[in-house]
Amino acid sequence: MAHTGEFDLIERISARFDPAPEVTGIGDDCAVIPQKSGLDTLVTTDLLIEDRHFLLGDISPEDLGWKSAAVNISDIASMGGKAESAFLSIALPPGTAAQWVDAFIGGFKALSDRCGVVLLGGDTSASPDKLFINITLLGSCPHGKAVRRSGAREGDLVCVTGPLGDSAGGLKLILERSARAHSEVSDSLPPSSGDACETLIRRHYRPEPKIAEGQRLAALAGLHAMMDISDGIASDLRHILKASGVSAEINLSDIPLSAELLSICRSRGWDAGELAVSGGEDYELLFTMAPGTEPDIPYWPIGRIVRGNEGNIRWIGGNKTEYQGFTHF
Ligand code: ADP
Ligand code: MG
Repeated sequence: MAHTGEFDLIERISARFDPAPEVTGIGDDCAVIPQKSGLDTLVTTDLLIEDRHFLLGDISPEDLGWKSAAVNISDIASMGGKAESAFLSIALPPGTAAQWVDAFIGGFKALSDRCGVVLLGGDTSASPDKLFINITLLGSCPHGKAVRRSGAREGDLVCVTGPLGDSAGGLKLILERSARAHSEVSDSLPPSSGDACETLIRRHYRPEPKIAEGQRLAALAGLHAMMDISDGIASDLRHILKASGVSAEINLSDIPLSAELLSICRSRGWDAGELAVSGGEDYELLFTMAPGTEPDIPYWPIGRIVRGNEGNIRWIGGNKTEYQGFTHF
């Protein structure tokens, strides 16, 4: 079969199933399943594959464990939920040491403990070659209170909870450092060490899911739509727009950029704005809210929801009219 896009494939799969009307299935950050207790159960699952999502030689087992937990906890945060139970399936390549697994679980547990997540099961297998990790995470929220991607309304402010592009900058530094170690680049490059480099690399390896922020935002009456930023806002905002039947205008100069990203980009001639818009894995929250809503957490308005059901984004203040986020195919 010729490859179609990731989202065409998901559509093909989801078209074959018809969940009960009270259940939210495929299409949001989590499935939402109402329970008799009066709570809704939130479920998300994510696959991390060696050489696709991480380079085993570059990431420490602790960081990989942390990140595996973080990407899933972030999906629960993006619906405004509380993260609760995890299932971990792992396929290990030949020769993986028990100490490697201990360190991986150490990183996984450090973030899970902090977020109140307990591991309840999983599966373990040998893999012929590469390492595969799959985590399924369950959480909960009060019935009917999960924040969807589909609620954005014309006139809403589009906001984010923190600086964008750090993780993409960190990844470029990791790749640069790895190329240097293999002597593929000259020593004339600026050093990929120092505080700013370490901060960006840490933002890539140890994202902090915004669980508390997600819950505070979800409690606001004016909060209309939310998701987490895993593929870059150029791609992720489009999911909100398409699910809501609206379009948006984004002011590129309003997108928050960290001092560390600006300094690294200056030294290397990288475009910080492009990394912020197209780079993924920041795991900040992207949300839309009625003007006049006042979240009691730090947030940055970056644009507005406008009329037009095509899900278009008009980028204001840059030298490009179109940006791409990360896609798998
Ligand atoms: P996120 O980036 O928040 O993890 P994705 O873009 O990976 O979300 O997935 C979008 C939606 O598609 C989610 O609701 C997810 O559960 C669903 N999905 C992705 N892959 C599959 C699949 N193979 N089968 C069923 N649903 C899928
Ligand atoms: Mg998500």
